[in-house]
This record gives sequence, C-alpha cells and structure tokens, in this order.
Amino acid sequence: MTQNATSDLTETLRKQIIRWVELESPSHDSASLRQMAELILSEIKDSALQVEQIDLGPETGPILHIHNRASGDDRAGILVLGHYDTVHPIGTLEQNPCRQEGDQLFGPGIYDMKSGVVLALSALKELAKPEDTQLPIDLVLVPDEETGSHYSRDHIEAFAKKSVYTLVCEPARVEEGRCVTARKGTGAIFVTAHGRPSHAGIHHEKGRNAIEEIAHHVLALEKLTDYEKGITVSVGVIKGGTTSNVVPAWCQIKADFRVPNAEMADYLEQQVKQLTNINPDIRIEVEFKLNRPAMDRTEATAALLARCQDYALQAGFELKEAPMTGGASDANFTAALGIPTLDGLGADGNGAHTLKEHILVSTLAQRRQFWVHTLAQLD
Ligand SMILES: [Zn+2]
Repeated sequence: MTQNATSDLTETLRKQIIRWVELESPSHDSASLRQMAELILSEIKDSALQVEQIDLGPETGPILHIHNRASGDDRAGILVLGHYDTVHPIGTLEQNPCRQEGDQLFGPGIYDMKSGVVLALSALKELAKPEDTQLPIDLVLVPDEETGSHYSRDHIEAFAKKSVYTLVCEPARVEEGRCVTARKGTGAIFVTAHGRPSHAGIHHEKGRNAIEEIAHHVLALEKLTDYEKGITVSVGVIKGGTTSNVVPAWCQIKADFRVPNAEMADYLEQQVKQLTNINPDIRIEVEFKLNRPAMDRTEATAALLARCQDYALQAGFELKEAPMTGGASDANFTAALGIPTLDGLGADGNGAHTLKEHILVSTLAQRRQFWVHTLAQLD
C-alpha cells in the first residue's frame, strides 16, 4: 500500500473505532448491547455481506452472524469469533473519554476488543462476495464473552464444528502484538459450610461456626496452587455470618482456578473433591465447575500459525507467538473441539479491563491488511 492509502485507511479505522467505543456496551446491559448490535449492522448495510441474528433472550444482546456465503453453500469455512460486550459499566466513558495521546488511542473496551472486531469486519467488507475468499467466512459476534459466554456457548460450539479453522479477534499480546496459541482452562470452585447458629455469648458451646470451618478450606484450596504444574487456585470471594454476636450458621467461598490442560483439570478436580468437613457437626458442599477447557497448542494449530505468519509478512509485519496465557476466551471452546484455533489476532495495545486500555493507532492498517490476506487466501 502507498503511504497515502495507509494513512487514509488508518483514519477510517480510527474513526470507526471511536464510534464503537463511544457506544458503551457492558455485558449486563441488554439495551446497550442491542444498540451496539444495531451500530455494527449499520456499518455493513451497503455491502454484499449477509447477516443473520440469533436472539438469546431478554437478558443480553443477539449473536450477529455476518458472512459471505453464496446461498446454499454449506461448506465448512473459516469461523471468525469476536465479542461486542465490554467489562466497563455505563459511565466509564465519562471519566475516561476516548482520546489519543501520541500513538495511543484510549477508551473503555477499545483493546478488548472493539478494535479487533472493527479490523476483521473491515477486511470482510472488502471480501464480501463468495468468490473473494477460498473458504466461506462466518464472522460471529457474541454479546456475553466477558461474563463467560453462558448464553452463546452452544452457538459458538455449533459454528466451530462447521469450521475448518477458527480465528479469534481478542487483543494481541503486549510486546510486539503476539498471537495466542494456548490458553489455560478456567473455572470456579465453591465450598459452602452449613453449621448451627446460636447466641455467641449465652450459648457459645451450642453453635457450630461455619466461618471457622470455611477458614480451613480457604487454606486447603490456596495450597492446591502448583506453579510447576501450571495450576493456580485463588479464593476470591467469601460470604458468611450475620452479626458478631451470632455464631454463624452459613459461609461460602468462591475460588477461581486455571489449569494448563484437561489432565490437570481432572487432577485438580480429584484434589478438590477430597475436601471433607473438619468439624463433624458441620456439613460442607463442594462444587467444581470447569467453565472454559484449556486451549492446547496442537500440530494443526502450529500449521495454521505458520500460514498466518506468511499472511502477516505480506501485510508487512512479523506475527510472533505468545507463551501460554492464563486468560481464557471463546477460543478455549473451539480449540477443545479439536478445531485449529488462533487467537490474539485483534488490535495491538495494552491495558485490557482497566482504565488505561488503549490501542496503537500506527498498527491498525497493517493488522487490517493481515486479515484481508488471511481471509482471502486461507484454504
Ligand atoms: Zn475479550
């Protein structure tokens, strides 16, 4: 591309990204999510792309399925996955407006992942006709990734099963915009203790203290962290008790866990299921819930990476690979189905989920061209 063409493209992308960021769309606000979905659709109304919406009920927004399939073409294609929700509540923009400082463009959700979706969508608009790509392209945008994709998971998996490859628009990793080939699996552990209430002063001996019981399990769970095995367990929430002069009858903890593969998920589950009550008069319940299975770096992933590295060179940059990350995404679902999956192909920047979230404007045109080359040539 000539320098003029690059700067025009950068400016178009930059303006589009600002429009998207200035429409806040937190995961829990279905009205805002619907507005965001409308905005996205309005950006492609003059193109030849096809759109289908999947309604997920009143609590969230729809899934947008934007594709360049000819009618009746049901070949397996390339699934491009993105999300249009953000972790930032309405009002974040007021304290933290969209603004540029040097090469950095700041705003809530700009890096994770509105810019990533803008890049992929912009490329797909250029490849809107079936003959523009080797394989049909299915861009699927979900409204609930940041809260675990509970509404959209079944649909994501159904789309993935019909794909040859899945490419995910999550942000590129800090330091050189690296892509992601492996992610840990993630889930939650709940331990609930049911004790017996009593007056803390008059009948102390009759009480069975649920908080005391849970204290043992906090320590036991934290001890399951094993950095060498790649397992982390972090007790993040504790609830229990009513007031200090009542021996508490109930207490519950919720812990986050991360595992590098399915084997370690099974191992951790075994360990957790061995937790038993310390006080014989207190009953405990233990729940182990794997939300996103680990994304393994398979040989097919490595082959896909090598091809995408070629497309990146065509776009003028070197696509490097990040080490396994502890953060999960919808890529975990598709990779666990055995679909070669590459993630972290969105915008380059830093500060996901914080008020310092930003992208690097100078990388936009290249990364968008990467999507054009990849979607057009991958077969
Ligand atoms: Zn994200």
